[in-house]
Amino acid sequence: MPAIKERALKVRPVPAEQEFRQTPPVAGRDAVLPEWLGADGNETPAHVKPQYDSVVVLGGGIGALSVAARLARSPAFEGRVVIAGKPPEQNRRLIGGLTLRARSLDYFAACLGVPRQSILERLYDGREAEARSNRQIAARVSRAKDGSYEIGPTGEWMSRWDHNGRALAYGVRNSHLAGVLHDFSQSLAITWSDAKPLSLGDCADLAPGKRPFVIKAEPMPLPGAGPMPSAPARFVAAAQLPFSDPHRVAKGVLQANTSIALARRRAGSMDGSVFYPLRDPLSPTARYYGIFYRIVKGGGALHKNAEIEIMKENLFGAAKAMGLDAVDPAETLGTALIPCSDWRPINDLTPGFLDLNALANNGSPIICGDGMLRAALASYAAAEALIAGVEPQAYLNRAMAKWKSRNRRIHYAMAPLSFFSDLMLRWSPGRSFHLLQDFGETWAGLE
Ligand SMILES: Cc1cc2nc3c(=O)[nH]c(=O)nc-3n(C[C@H](O)[C@H](O)[C@H](O)COP(=O)(O)OP(=O)(O)OC[C@H]3O[C@@H](n4cnc5c(N)ncnc54)[C@H](O)[C@@H]3O)c2cc1C
Repeated sequence: MPAIKERALKVRPVPAEQEFRQTPPVAGRDAVLPEWLGADGNETPAHVKPQYDSVVVLGGGIGALSVAARLARSPAFEGRVVIAGKPPEQNRRLIGGLTLRARSLDYFAACLGVPRQSILERLYDGREAEARSNRQIAARVSRAKDGSYEIGPTGEWMSRWDHNGRALAYGVRNSHLAGVLHDFSQSLAITWSDAKPLSLGDCADLAPGKRPFVIKAEPMPLPGAGPMPSAPARFVAAAQLPFSDPHRVAKGVLQANTSIALARRRAGSMDGSVFYPLRDPLSPTARYYGIFYRIVKGGGALHKNAEIEIMKENLFGAAKAMGLDAVDPAETLGTALIPCSDWRPINDLTPGFLDLNALANNGSPIICGDGMLRAALASYAAAEALIAGVEPQAYLNRAMAKWKSRNRRIHYAMAPLSFFSDLMLRWSPGRSFHLLQDFGETWAGLE
């Protein structure tokens, strides 16, 4: 395990009275931040002048909130940021991601200008330790002839002890995280608009300035801005649920503060899964969340409902084998069929416009548990670029490149090379994950 470089751990002290206006430093080998940010990730040159005088953000999720917050904290854009979208609504249903790599907190903290611990306190109301994943184990899962699921031998592939004791990840409902980011951003000069712009011209009409920049932080295309997406060749099908853990200890698979990655090879490809410790104020009995997902081909051969049904069966079956019970599935079950996109950088450039959503989410969604991190990192890099007076797209392509190459590796391991992945999992589940996956501060971050 390579040691994290000492210089990556340096954190510059922030004067208390300016706490909210300062940006906590972001450093680390995964960051690949614009070069003007310097070695500690926090050096916006004082002499640069932004090219734009205002920003319109389309969206209302965690990406929109993060980029708007960072911009609104800079003197150049204070009072000149409009979000065209709906503020986050709380819903028990598990829509969007729940595995919050702890590293994401570094980027959210940098966008909001607050210490990462403040975000954890708001998210968990002092019970953060219960949502923490301190180690992750891996195993094969198989289905017996009687329909029951069996979890194979487990092996640890990542632990907090490899990262100076720092937690690896937290379980959080996506809309709860969005709600907390929204709460933090309330004290900033951000204007919300319920207008639904259909063109760059509509966006300009909403802007509180003459030279607006438009950031699309939602998946819907904006006609006239960037290329229209082509029909996706692949999708990721997924189902997820919160669980209580009445028989977890008796089953002896999952220990406290431990997450598990599971894989089931079926019909020439892998059903992937993770279960993570969770605290959710809207589902207080939940102790874990679990998800199953699979990369499926698009076109006529795709049977969406059938794929989702198998994901649900897997979810209930594997959870039972670990002693977990679904919490109010009628209200909490989330299912999705999300299009995959190219791994190539996005080079089509519309000056004054950025498709933040597309740049952050390139590749196969869900399979790496890093979508929220990517949204936060992309938001941070985009905002810093605008503040420094440069078009952000090239910097985002750079910032996201490592994440996309990891995504591609896991994609191949799950789909075309699943036979070999399965062999490796039989040989040694912990070691095989360790070889395939990334570790280091891309999980634990630099608190
Ligand atoms: C089933 C599934 C599982 C996933 N698992 C993970 C995971 O484990 N870890 C991870 O990091 N990522 C995961 N992701 C990806 C992650 O959810 C996204 O990458 C991340 O939310 C992107 O944020 P965003 O702001 O760019 O877009 P989104 O969160 O998709 O938001 C885009 C649009 O949705 C709207 N919106 C979103 N939430 C709300 C809300 N509460 N109220 C009103 N409007 C809303 C916004 O207005 C915005 O227009 C998963 C995604 C799915 C679908």
